[in-house]
Amino acid sequence: MTAGARAACVVGWPVKHSRSPLIHNYWIEQHKLDAVYRYEEIPPEAFADFISHLSARGYVGANITIPHKEAALVLSEPDDRARAVGAANTLWLAQGHLHSTNTDVEGFTANLDASVPGWDDALDEAVVLGAGGSARAVVHGLIERGCGRIHVVNRTPVRAEALRQRFGEAVRAAHWSALPHLLARAGLLVNTTSLGMTGQPPLEVELSPLHADAVVADLVYVPLETPLLAAARGCGLATADGIGMLLHQAVRGFQLWFGVRPEVTPELRAMVEADLGK
Ligand code: NAP
Repeated sequence: MTAGARAACVVGWPVKHSRSPLIHNYWIEQHKLDAVYRYEEIPPEAFADFISHLSARGYVGANITIPHKEAALVLSEPDDRARAVGAANTLWLAQGHLHSTNTDVEGFTANLDASVPGWDDALDEAVVLGAGGSARAVVHGLIERGCGRIHVVNRTPVRAEALRQRFGEAVRAAHWSALPHLLARAGLLVNTTSLGMTGQPPLEVELSPLHADAVVADLVYVPLETPLLAAARGCGLATADGIGMLLHQAVRGFQLWFGVRPEVTPELRAMVEADLGK
């Protein structure tokens, strides 16, 4: 790395759990770029000052993680995805302006494209479990891909209803008790809750109503193979996992900052899997 190296960072509070430096520094090395990617642990009260001086601090852009994603949206010029999701996770400087997007949207859809090609051909109905931040990115991605009806099932019904208000008629709020009926018609089931994650309660969903050609996606990536994905594979269903989404969501930021579109390779995946397994 030279004094003129391009630099990007991940900004969070805390931030040391983030795998973004591992992913981006792998690509920097792979492409032999004069660049660096760092952690920046910034408390909420210092966030606005930090990102309004991103360039002076030597950065061309940044990833934004908890708890700053909503603040990043307000403090930047968001694209349609960030605005629709209501949160920004990727910032970049262009002609003196600070732009933002939400790459969880394309992380979700690109991972499905890579894992289950054709998953969105004639996808009429999908079921999304959860109505938090990641559910908003998933719902927006499904609408972009033309999914006609998205049933959002959440523990707290009012949050599912809020997604309907945000995204409109394609979204329907539904109760857990309706799942057997909804799954029988769905081409895709997505878990965006934290259920099934190590240390969290299990996710209990009976998959038998799903059609044989339905797809199951889980955003949870600790453990790597969640009980939901294991059950889906056991039923012979196609699946897309959370680590794939994590890797695919990183592609666009790297391209924006460093001008090269990187690839999600088996080697990168194995490296991140090994790190998660530590
Ligand atoms: P969030 O905004 O906090 O939302 C959490 C969701 O989980 C809410 O719908 C919540 O329901 C539900 N939930 C939590 N505990 C529950 C329980 N005991 N019973 C029923 N529902 C419960 O979180 P998020 O940002 O959307 O993230 C959710 C998960 O996705 C996390 O595991 C995260 O690591 C993962 N994720 C993965 C990626 C990736 O790249 N693979 C990206 C983003 C997120 P209520 O509304 O009722 O509280």
